[in-house]
Amino acid sequence: MIDRHLQISADPDSPKLLMKELGLKDSFQFECRLECMGMCCNSIRIVLDPWDVEVLARHLGLGGKACIDQHCTLEFTPESHWPIVWLAGAYSGPCTFLNSDNKCSVYTARPTICRTYPLGRAVRIDEDGQAVEKVFLVEKAAFCLGGLTERLRTVESWLNNEGVRERAPLSNLYLALIYYAETELHSPKWMNKPIANMLHPLLFAPEMLRAKLDIGEDLDHAEFYRRRLDAVKLLLTDLAAGFGCGPLAAKAEESVFKESMMERIRHVLAIGERPEM
Ligand code: SF4
Ligand code: SF4
Repeated sequence: MIDRHLQISADPDSPKLLMKELGLKDSFQFECRLECMGMCCNSIRIVLDPWDVEVLARHLGLGGKACIDQHCTLEFTPESHWPIVWLAGAYSGPCTFLNSDNKCSVYTARPTICRTYPLGRAVRIDEDGQAVEKVFLVEKAAFCLGGLTERLRTVESWLNNEGVRERAPLSNLYLALIYYAETELHSPKWMNKPIANMLHPLLFAPEMLRAKLDIGEDLDHAEFYRRRLDAVKLLLTDLAAGFGCGPLAAKAEESVFKESMMERIRHVLAIGERPEM
């Protein structure tokens, strides 16, 4: 089993990754080939972030919840401390999105990790909440013949052409949220399955939130995504205070806000108000 999750969440300062680090102007030889087409989409853990789920769901004409129910595994384990989603079909055999010609049937909506290969992005969030990215060449599986070509690509052109550059800011926002939960709120101490379940609609079901709050499609999907992550931040910060963690811990007994948590979440989602901490 290959785990491509590590490509995106690994520590970029790991010596193992630094060995293969590439600059944006560096070149590498790669071109997909018919002989091995689709072999990379088999028995592999393709981890999705909420933006991956949203784009895939819209492409399939599904809501985020239905997309997860039908095509993904959503798991929370005491080790992960966070809900993790991956493509169910690709994990247990050939990806269910492979066509009979072994090409991807959801190519324009394929997940970020599928786009990035044979490169990987390792992202660390610094103390100011900014993403520090390093790009490296992934060690290719023996079956992958993509390196047997004279065709040279630059890292920059690959990331741009595959749509990775466009998605990176949204992926980074999600990583920053997880980093905030772990470091500022000490979420591994208190995160459990029921709390993780509370996050699911905000993370993965924008259609349900839009319907509930009567927010139409005129609100840009990316902007609504940012608001949803802000709402998760607000929710987790309030919950953490109850466990004596995070910036509101000292005020957990006082009523700091005039409005209830649900009303504040509603404002973040509907008006785009930045959450007050
Ligand atoms: S979504 Fe497409 S590219 Fe990604 S594993 Fe499935 S078939 Fe392959
Ligand atoms: S060259 Fe590698 S990435 Fe491309 S189709 Fe073949 S196995 Fe997959």
